[in-house]
Amino acid sequence: MSQETPSDDSLIGLLKGVEDFSQNVFPETQELFSELAEGQSPHTLFITCADSRVVPEMITQTQPGELFVCRNIGNIVPGYGEMLGGVSAVVEFAVAVLRVRQVVICGHSDCGAMKGLLNPESTKDLPTVTAWLRNAEAAKSAVFARKLEGADAMAAVIQENVRLQLAHLRTHPAVAAARANNAITLQGWVYDIGNGTVSVLDQASDRFVALAEAIGRKNAG
Ligand SMILES: [Zn+2]
Repeated sequence: MSQETPSDDSLIGLLKGVEDFSQNVFPETQELFSELAEGQSPHTLFITCADSRVVPEMITQTQPGELFVCRNIGNIVPGYGEMLGGVSAVVEFAVAVLRVRQVVICGHSDCGAMKGLLNPESTKDLPTVTAWLRNAEAAKSAVFARKLEGADAMAAVIQENVRLQLAHLRTHPAVAAARANNAITLQGWVYDIGNGTVSVLDQASDRFVALAEAIGRKNAG
């Protein structure tokens, strides 16, 4: 991306961005795009928040065609049968048709949805957001039960929500079938916007560990 100058925040700015892509970026990557024009075979379904500061391809340093991405407020996956809709369809298609080998659910620091979950008063005029956040309600209960407050509550609810949405993900039939065949790995992440780091949910200990530790364990096992 050529971003020498601060980007123009108008619609014209977006169009100029596309012009820059077509004229400068695309030609340099033309071989990849010619291949992708014939089809996709992404290895990972990446479910994360709609937050503008979370950029999956940048964080993971992946190319177009590698990540099948699903984004929504709060990186939520409703349990199967609860709210059949966009997310359920993405999960089914990615797992049953594209046969992704990994699903990552990635929460993040300073998440507006998680703030809303902790402070329902702040979303009382947003009926749709309120209804959607019910899919994360159990994460809040887990945090309130531990009597956490402030930044501690926020950090904990972000992590609890990732655990909860992984549990919801396992209720989807396509995921259950792929897991039964050992064809898929599910993993939870939390991305820290201010530090540029990711912590990873270690399934064995059920705690979030630093990236180096997660990579070390993967290599070891
Ligand atoms: Zn968020």
